[in-house]
Parts: sequence; C-alpha cells; structure tokens
Amino acid sequence: DKADIRKVAPFIWQIDKSYRPGMNVPAIIFATEQILDGVLKDRSIEQLVNVTSLSGIQKAAMAMPDMHEGYGFPIGGVAATSWPSGAISPGGIGYDINCGVRLLKSDCRFSQIEQYIGKLGHEIYKSIPSGVGKGGDIRLSVKELDNVLQHGSKWAVKNGYGNERDLERTESSGCLENAYPNAVSEKAKKRGIDQLGTLGSGNHFLEIDVVDEIYDTECADAYGLFKGQAVVLIHTGSRGLGHQVATDYVKIMMSSMEKYGISVPDRELAYAPFDSPEGQRYYAAMAAAANFAWANRQIITHKIREAWESVLGRDARLTLLYDVAHNIAKIEDHEIDGKSRKVIVHRKGATRAFGPHHPEIPEAYRVVGQPVIIPGSMGTASYVLAGTEAGMLMSFGSTCHGAGRQLSRSEATRMIDGKQLMMELRDRGIYPYIGSIKELAEEAPEAYKDVDDVVDVIDRTGIAKKVAKLKPVVVIKG
Ligand code: 5GP
Ligand code: MN
Ligand code: MN
Repeated sequence: DKADIRKVAPFIWQIDKSYRPGMNVPAIIFATEQILDGVLKDRSIEQLVNVTSLSGIQKAAMAMPDMHEGYGFPIGGVAATSWPSGAISPGGIGYDINCGVRLLKSDCRFSQIEQYIGKLGHEIYKSIPSGVGKGGDIRLSVKELDNVLQHGSKWAVKNGYGNERDLERTESSGCLENAYPNAVSEKAKKRGIDQLGTLGSGNHFLEIDVVDEIYDTECADAYGLFKGQAVVLIHTGSRGLGHQVATDYVKIMMSSMEKYGISVPDRELAYAPFDSPEGQRYYAAMAAAANFAWANRQIITHKIREAWESVLGRDARLTLLYDVAHNIAKIEDHEIDGKSRKVIVHRKGATRAFGPHHPEIPEAYRVVGQPVIIPGSMGTASYVLAGTEAGMLMSFGSTCHGAGRQLSRSEATRMIDGKQLMMELRDRGIYPYIGSIKELAEEAPEAYKDVDDVVDVIDRTGIAKKVAKLKPVVVIKG
C-alpha cells in the first residue's frame, strides 16, 4: 500500500522494517512519484519487501527506477548479503546469468557512414544468428566448452576473437576465476554448446546508434565519445546455458532450504548460505555461465568488426568502450557503518557502477568512474553514465539496467499495431530487423518506461551521472 511508503529524500522512497515481521532491513526504491505509482500495479514492491528477509542482508533491499516484476526478486533489484555465510539466491541474479551490455565506438561520425547504413545492418544481421534457441556456426567439443566456461572472454581472445585491450575494458576482464565447469549440468551444456556467438531472442539486440548529446565533457573525453559519433550496442547473455543453470539451482536450493532451517515468504526466493555446499556450487556454476556470456559478447564483437570492415574498409575501427553485466552476483568490498566489509552483491537487472579511483576500473577511466551503459528501447534514447562516489555509498555501486518493462508482452501485442509501428520507426530514420511483426509490437518503445525519466532519477539522486545520450538507427532484435 502506498501509505506504507515514505519519501525520505527527493526520488528516494522507503518501506520501514516495522512494516512486516521478518524484514531484516528496510526496502528502498529510487523513483519519481509517477514511476512509483506505475510500479504499484504489479507485484514488484511486494517482491522487494520479500528480499529484505534474506539472511545476512545489509543496509536495505534496493530497487532502481526501472524495476518491474521478476522471478522471486524484482528486476532492477540490488541486494548485498554478508560474506561468507549470508544468502546467495539464484532468483536474485536471474535466469539470463550475466546478461549485459557492451558499447563499441567507431572512429567515424554517423554522417560519414550514413550512406552505408543499410549494408551495415544487413551484414551484421546476416553474420550473427538470432532467434529463440538458435544455434551458430561455432562447433565446440565438450572439452572445449569447458574451456569457454573456465576462461570466458580470455578463451575468445586466445582463439582469435578480439584483442587484449578488449579484456581490459570488460568487467572482471570477462573471466570470473572461481568458475567450475563441473558444477554446470550436462543439460545446460547441451543447450549452450552450439549457441556461442548468437544473439537469442526477446529484448536482446544489436544496434547502431549515434551520440546525440554530451552532458559531461570530462567523462566523454575519457571515454572517447563525441557528438555525432557512430557507436554499436550489444545486449545479450548466456543463452540457454545460463537459463538451465538457473533452473537447476533454483530446484536444488528449494530442496535444501529445509536442511538449513531457511523459510522464505515466497518459494521463488529460494536461497542457500553462500558458504554451504549448495551455495558454493551455484556460485561456481553461475561464474561459468557468466564466462560463457562474456565469451558470447566477445565473439559477437568480432563478427561485428568483420562486418564493419567488409562494408567500410579495413581501417574502419570499432573499439570497446566497456562491457558490463546486469544479472550477476559478485563478492565486493563496501563501506557499511563506516567500515569496509566483504559482501555478496546480487544485481538483477542492475548495472555495476563503480565510482572514481576504484581499482577494478580500467586505468583510462579510473579518474572519472566506470562507464555504465543503459539501453532504452528500439525507438528511444539509450544512455552512457559514469559511476560515482555517492553510488558506492548509496547503492553498493549499482544503478538501473534499462528503462524497464511497463507492459507485459501480451499487453503490448494487444495494444500496439506492429505494422504501424514499423512505418513510424522508418519515418524517424530507424531501421528495425526483427523476426516478426508480433515481436516488434512486444518490443515497442511504449512497452517500456520512459528511459529519460528513469535515467534522470539515477542522475538526480547522484548514484551515477549522465555522460552521453544515444539515438538508435539500426536495431537488430533476436
Ligand atoms: P533486460 O535486460 O531486462 O532484458 O533489458 C534491459 C533493457 O533493455 C530494457 O529494460 C529496455 O529498456 C532495453 N531495451 C529493450 N529492447 C531494446 C532495444 O531494442 N534497444 C535498446 N537500445 N534498448 C532496448
Ligand atoms: Mn539484459
Ligand atoms: Mn538477457
């Protein structure tokens, strides 16, 4: 009920611990009043309150302005639990483990390549398989797949898909060291074995955008972004493999909860103590799936570079700005009650946004903070932000991951005329490549919240700051 939600600062809302028995910490929502009213229509706030009951949760269960209902946890959620025995919950990471975004910078202005845009779209669409369950042309043996799971982007670069510099500009260098391929089931491996270098379906996309506005020149210079520049966005994750890992471990944790005396307000919140055998095995499998996702985005990057060069010539370059995960759990140090503590940060539909000087940020960006990439929709803006000191203290160095859905897929197909949308987008100079008109309607800009509002909440609360705004030109959807 809205009466239980207290405004504690501009764009920050709180549900106190006293609201319901079993809450270990308050719940905090970053939103405008209008976004909050919208969010009250689904179960996401109830889900956020459920998250406050996780064992070892620190400070608060947090939700970003892109929040919407998810499996157990809301999407747009952040929860940090105490290391080493606090909760780890697969529902707090999501089914697409290490879904994430990367941005490639070209060295051209859009106006210089405008005449080739149809060809570029076509070449990229042709070279990267897309669609539900769709496989690609990379054939791996089971043993080689284990190497991918162990080494992530490092495997990809070693095998000729990209360069060392790409690794430097990827969160965790595109490889979580604690990955353990044996913790990934046969079934999961079977689903993933032919899916490396593929896009998948739904909200996953490849996009050519133009830098439309610069808000912070110091950050933009450090990131190498300029107004009018053509850039490429890649959004995908760990495909069927990650989905199966999540499915397997939700089941495992549901059945181990009784043994650990854990009770949850919603079974979908199933968790295990991080340092239990189930917790450790999930964390190792999650890391393996995350590595698969990083290898996937790295291989896609390589294929896009090939397409780019084949159309624009061999000197046309695409440099990685950054690759950041938005469905993952990480062990990090954060300041809690004035002391530095190790915590297990769950980010589900939330992007890591480390502030300036953090040692995990690539050197070139260290002074200004980590690049954060926030997609909007096929017909609206997307944004590049920078992490801040305030975000480190307020949201465990995390921010939103997109605009966030406001219409379900079925609502969107009912309300939106796909054919008309296609014409409208084309009139605006946006070229969508998509499997069907129905899928276009499901992914319509109206199906998402207003990304400008969502990003303004982030910027005005200071948990990250706006650097640049992008506008879409070519959108390839799964
Ligand atoms: P998710 O990770 O939850 O699948 O999606 C992340 C965000 O991507 C969504 O909340 C939405 O704002 C954004 N998004 C979905 N489709 C597109 C697209 O075609 N282009 C861009 N730029 N963003 C999109
Ligand atoms: Mn995603
Ligand atoms: Mn995804």
